[in-house]
Parts: sequence; C-alpha cells; structure tokens
Amino acid sequence: MYDVVFIGDEINSPELKSLCIKPNSLIQCRGEIGDFKLKIKENNNTIEEKTKYIILNLKAKRENPIENTLDFTSPLDNLDENKDIIFIQDYEDISPAVINNEGLKKALTVKENYRNVETYYLYRSMRFTEENDKLYESLRKKGVIFLQYEMDNIKIDDKTIEYKRGKIEHNLSGQIITAPKLKPDQRIKKIAKIMNIEMNDNDYIQRENIYLQPTLTGKRGVYALGGTRGLNAYTDLDLQIEYTLNEIRSNLFDIKPLTEFNRVVDDQKCILCYTCYRVCPHGAVQEDNELDAMHINELACYGCDACISHCPADAISYEIKQNEKKNNKILKVLMCENSAETAFNKLNKDKFNELEIEKIPCASSI
Ligand code: SF4
Ligand code: SF4
Repeated sequence: MYDVVFIGDEINSPELKSLCIKPNSLIQCRGEIGDFKLKIKENNNTIEEKTKYIILNLKAKRENPIENTLDFTSPLDNLDENKDIIFIQDYEDISPAVINNEGLKKALTVKENYRNVETYYLYRSMRFTEENDKLYESLRKKGVIFLQYEMDNIKIDDKTIEYKRGKIEHNLSGQIITAPKLKPDQRIKKIAKIMNIEMNDNDYIQRENIYLQPTLTGKRGVYALGGTRGLNAYTDLDLQIEYTLNEIRSNLFDIKPLTEFNRVVDDQKCILCYTCYRVCPHGAVQEDNELDAMHINELACYGCDACISHCPADAISYEIKQNEKKNNKILKVLMCENSAETAFNKLNKDKFNELEIEKIPCASSI
C-alpha cells in the first residue's frame, strides 16, 4: 500500500511511500480515502495498486495564440538588434499571474541583452504580485514602453501591430514575442470521469475561489494541484504543495469518518438506477458488483444526504453506529420544505433530546 500516488508529475516527498503514474495509464479507481484501489495499464499488462491518498498534478497545455510569432520557449538570444521587440500578453484570454511573471522576467532578460533595442510590452491586465511589481518598475526604468490594450485596440497583421487607444496611435513592427495561452490538459477530464470527481465549466477540477483548503477536490483523499485545478492555481503552487503534503503526513494514521451516521443501501430495494452515484458531490457512491446494488463508502461520505433525498426506491437509510448512545444533544434542522423531508423522516430522532426544526424555501438541489 502506498501513502500517495501522484498522477502526472511527481513531487519530491522522501518521507512518504509514493508512486507516480502517467495520466493515461489509470483505468479504474475504486475505494475511499485510506484504501484506494487503482487499476493501472503498464506496457501490455494491467496491474493493481493500493494507496491511501492520490494527488493529481497535470500541467496545463501551452498554446501560442498568434501564428508565426515567437513565444516564451523560443531562444531569445539571437534576436535582430535592428528591429523592435514587442511582447504581447493576454492575447485572446487574460493571463494568470504566473504567465504575467514569466513575461516580465523574459522582458527583463531581453532588455538586459539588447539595451538599445526599442522594447514594448503590450498587456490587458497586469497582475501585481510583489515580484511583478518590482519587475514592472525595473523594466520601466530600463526604458521598456508598456501599452495597455483591449482586443479592439490592436490589429495584428504579419509582424505589424496597429495600436489605437484614444488619442494614442502606434504602428509597431518587429519581433513579436507572444505569451502562451494556457489550456486544460484533456486527460484531466478522463481522470475526473474515472474517479467520479466533479469539474468546473472550464475543464479544470476546481473553481478558482477555494482559498481556505485550496487543493481539496470533491472526493475525500484526492488532491488537485496547479494546472489540474485551474489557471490561477499556478501562482501559489509551492504553497499548495506544502499544504497538501503536510495534510497527508498529519492524517496518514488517523483517517476517521466525517459523519456520525453511516448511510447504507438496502440491496433488496436498490434498482441500480445510479441516481445516487450521479448526485453524490463527493464520489462516495459506487456499485457493489457482488450485491448488485450501490454501496456508500463511509470514509468518503460527507453526510450531505443528497443520495437519500433523491433515491427513487427509498433504498438508502441511516445506520446508527454500534457504540452510539442517546446523549444530551440538541439538533437544529434547517430543512428544505420539499426535498429534505425524505431524509429527515429517516433520522433516528430518539438520539436527540430536542429537535428544533425550521423549514426553509426550496433552493433546488442545494
Ligand atoms: S450523503 Fe452525500 S456525500 Fe454521502 S454518499 Fe450521500 S450524497 Fe454522497
Ligand atoms: S438512487 Fe437508490 S435505487 Fe438508485 S442506485 Fe442509488 S440506492 Fe439504488
């Protein structure tokens, strides 16, 4: 059993027993935090491995949005001293801060090597992190001309750029160096499907605004880093890695269920409609092939009860854990007046001394 399996790029973590696999080699992922079972394609064989945690770490793809121009990967040490140098950032899409930073650093190298060449830096949005701030100031002092634009302000035609913004007009020509456009690696989608993890609309694993626990995915025990999460996630990649590895290290021997009750499927009632599998936001439901019914992974379950509310066969209910006794607990229930009723009726109310129920208007599946 591995402590962690990296899918994509490996991160150095000597104190963890780890394995790194190629994204395309994952065929199946079953199980739950602490006990994931992976089927992996290796040459012409299929092997099985077990791991406690999984880290998804695929880089976003880079594409040059303007044909026939240089990009950040082109060698920039043999530019023509007699032609202007023009950096273009944010063409089509606004770049994340990490690309902004790369562009400013490239511009600094170029300006230091070609002091007398007129250098322009066209951008739509400057992401002022502390380092970018310093680079920007330094480039301005060295004479780089920054021009802010919107897509309507520029026309690019075979190495010339027509720039018009208000009263400012420039016809620029020279060597254009274009910042890459980042696109999600399509293998992320395949992995998310295999692992039953929800994605955002842009084909990344997460929305951009998860700051408190930035690398968590909807599936407990699976973390997503950098270009697997989303574009802005690149900016604080080192912090993400540190946070994730620390969390894995500290949890390694202490994985407990998050909820007080187990949710169990009655295999006699389950009609294998897969509704619970589809509605579970945490990928905690899987088919039990032996029983011909669904099975809920206790450790992966967050206890939201979406499965109970949606099951058309009334096949999912709570199972009180053996060592639980009635206590002095008071339960306050904020309950959707429509869909939460089914789940609520199944609650073992004897466990609580007092119930405070407040019905709230339906807010769809929330
Ligand atoms: S309670 Fe929520 S998290 Fe748990 S299995 Fe049901 S839908 Fe998934
Ligand atoms: S929603 Fe109910 S009937 Fe459908 S698969 Fe899940 S447990 Fe079975």
